[in-house]
Amino acid sequence: MTSRARSVATALAILGAVWWINPAPSSAATAVLATSQQIGTSVQGRPIEVACIGSGDRSVLLVGGLHTGPEAHSVDLVLEVARLAWSSDLEVPAATRLCILPVLNPDGLVSGNRTNARGVDLNRNWPALNWSADAYHPEGGAVSGGSGPLSEPETRALWNYVLQTRPDVVLVLHCCGAVVEANDSADAGALATAFAAGASMQHIAEWTAYPVTGQFIDAMDRIGIGAMDIEMEALGDIALDDHRAGLVRVLDALEGASSQPPVVRQAAVTRVTYRVLPGDTLANIAVRHGTTADVLTSINRLASPDLITVGQVLAVR
Ligand SMILES: [Zn+2]
Repeated sequence: MTSRARSVATALAILGAVWWINPAPSSAATAVLATSQQIGTSVQGRPIEVACIGSGDRSVLLVGGLHTGPEAHSVDLVLEVARLAWSSDLEVPAATRLCILPVLNPDGLVSGNRTNARGVDLNRNWPALNWSADAYHPEGGAVSGGSGPLSEPETRALWNYVLQTRPDVVLVLHCCGAVVEANDSADAGALATAFAAGASMQHIAEWTAYPVTGQFIDAMDRIGIGAMDIEMEALGDIALDDHRAGLVRVLDALEGASSQPPVVRQAAVTRVTYRVLPGDTLANIAVRHGTTADVLTSINRLASPDLITVGQVLAVR
């Protein structure tokens, strides 16, 4: 195990310990609720964990280590943010909750690769409308998008967690570019503007440097979850003060919005629907529409993939 991988395990253990030893300050005004949970397991069996602090209804999910290898410093940044929040050096406002996922690709953190243990690029494996098995990244050219959307245990873990918890916004760290790109759902655009202003970054409407298929923020659009990619400025530099200032702006914006009714979370894309015919199964409907039964179950909020009826109208894209 590399020292960085060891530090993740240690840090998460410490975060857990903070909760068990000192669950909450006595004053209700500063009450802090911290929890951590394993949300899944990597290809090689390493745990994928999320820890949350704060008791408000408005939540931010901060994700590091979706790409590792050269982007592994995003893990260091998330852990440093966690250390600040758990030691109360970063205030989590009363109406908000901060959840951190330090490393989505723990196998890549250990191996030093950008991709997961099966060589799949975890930002090309999401059920966005343009998912493709054959994907691209400028570093090395062709990369795998997986055998299908959500074919990898790491992406499935985060997808299921987001569906269950429906955060107000998901911030995903990448490198490099000093730019922020948001999807079109919920308040993501305004929150990206707030983050960029705090972090002295540029908020761009769309990533145009190279084509990206099956990416996370576009998949979040399909289920109406606001999300943004934050391209850290430079390799190896966590630029803590800048990113902290950006995060504070996002938390403050959510705190300020907490007296307003929540944004109606409708998917930003126009849905394509399909009416179930006799003999259909969710699996064969999925194949015909280039998706998977898991994805159809999620976007239609079905209790079970077996529970479809003739005449029922399903969203398929
Ligand atoms: Zn990346």
